[in-house]
Amino acid sequence: MVFLGLFGCTNPNREPKDLLARIKFRNKIIIGIKSDSKPFGYIEKGELKGFDVDVAKNITKRILGDEELAEYVYVTADSRISDLNSGKVDIVIATMSINSKRADIIDFTIPYYVAGQALIIKNSSKINSIESLNTRRAGIILGTTGEKTIRQLAPNATVIGKKNYNEAFDLLKEDKVDAILADDSILYGFVLDNKGYKILPARYTKEYYAIALRQGEENKELKEELNKILNHMQQTGKLNRIKEKWIPNLHKGA
Ligand code: GLU
Repeated sequence: MVFLGLFGCTNPNREPKDLLARIKFRNKIIIGIKSDSKPFGYIEKGELKGFDVDVAKNITKRILGDEELAEYVYVTADSRISDLNSGKVDIVIATMSINSKRADIIDFTIPYYVAGQALIIKNSSKINSIESLNTRRAGIILGTTGEKTIRQLAPNATVIGKKNYNEAFDLLKEDKVDAILADDSILYGFVLDNKGYKILPARYTKEYYAIALRQGEENKELKEELNKILNHMQQTGKLNRIKEKWIPNLHKGA
């Protein structure tokens, strides 16, 4: 009877169409998350952690009553839209910026964090602007908003794209590129972990991170619920506490 009331279907084994109802029915939410983007989604000593992971845990707890009821699927910047639209994951929480091109094919919640694109260079480097990359080599991460920015602001740069952040950072380490353009929030993780690198002060964009969902009627209830949860996390200071935990001095422009 409970199933009938909740999901309006006569067969209790049949998953409901509405995604929020389906998540509750199966008692599990499948979340696409990064594993290469410290401090947002990364693995340390076998444990998945980070800003996005804490957001995911809060959301899981609010929807299912227990933060452990999430199943995590690792996505990259390049795979996350197809992982979402193919149904491999229910939602994506993966340092993903809202932009109009993406909004044509997926849906977004309200933002939960704002980053900005920046350049990371070696301390010894003479590069001081994105324009100076026009005669040099720039590293980017495939599938990120940085791809577009580099083509706009340094159209003559030799651009080398990598599928994940560690590979891109290796390019810089090995002097195969002169700089990497990416979100300051993620570059910050590399500066903390590696001596001899710095993030230049300029920010070229504003990146509004949001949770991504599929488009369509069956995702509407879930989107509303996620927006409610994010608003609540904002109002209660929870989001700020997560920020302080993972990004203790980003405001100093590390
Ligand atoms: N926020 C940027 C984007 O959505 C880059 C960070 C990333 O997800 O790798 O493309």
